[in-house]
Amino acid sequence: MRKTIIANWKMHYGPVKAGAWIRAFRRERLPKNIDIGVAVPFVSLAAARSSLGRAGVPNLGAQDTFWANEGAFTGEIGPAMLKEFALSFCLVGHSERRQYLGETDEMVAKKAIALQKSGIRPVICVGETEAQRKKGETLKVVRAQLAAVIAEGLKIDGPASPIIAYEPVWAIGTGKACSGQEAMVVHEAIHDALVKKFGKEASEIPVIYGGSVDPRNVAEYLSTTHIDGVLIGSASLDPRAFGVLCRAALPA
Ligand code: PEP
Repeated sequence: MRKTIIANWKMHYGPVKAGAWIRAFRRERLPKNIDIGVAVPFVSLAAARSSLGRAGVPNLGAQDTFWANEGAFTGEIGPAMLKEFALSFCLVGHSERRQYLGETDEMVAKKAIALQKSGIRPVICVGETEAQRKKGETLKVVRAQLAAVIAEGLKIDGPASPIIAYEPVWAIGTGKACSGQEAMVVHEAIHDALVKKFGKEASEIPVIYGGSVDPRNVAEYLSTTHIDGVLIGSASLDPRAFGVLCRAALPA
């Protein structure tokens, strides 16, 4: 399976800086055998799209969506609106949204399904907190988060087939990266749960890792079985440094 690298700028870069980031990143030499994407704040999608011009890389994505396409939902942005930017993907269920905005598994599941209906690939983030890991509940928590989207009717085929991002909350932005071997156990459990539900085609669903990945440790993840890519927060904010990370991902 081709590897995937997705940048998540989080709440950084309005339209002016987003355009500058994309133009700078377009000058980077990039590996051709990796799918590279960037998840952009809503307000910067138009600038990112126009700065991208005809360049096919990086793929553009959003960081969140609402589950309805229109209606009386003040402040929300739905999949049909996102589709106007020709996005390839959209994150849902990032732990910062679960933690600070009270997003539940059910809300995340509704968002993922709504994206699929609009033809946008959901990148469904799952992961345990430090307290849950200490109690030995990692696999239970991750399986429950996954079960919620499966119960809503997740589809695994077609252009909007999902990506699952395993992001242990304790590893996000902390510098405490989960080792490749620790992550592998969870990735294998996710692959197993998907294959059990959907059959062996589900082994083609990418399961990517996120949490303090940087240019020094990226190759470790991408060379570990069951890890199909990485989601990068802080180490994606500088376009040149992100280019270095992309080149370090699959050493020749
Ligand atoms: C993230 O927020 O998705 C993430 C992986 O952040 P960081 O790389 O900064 O840990």
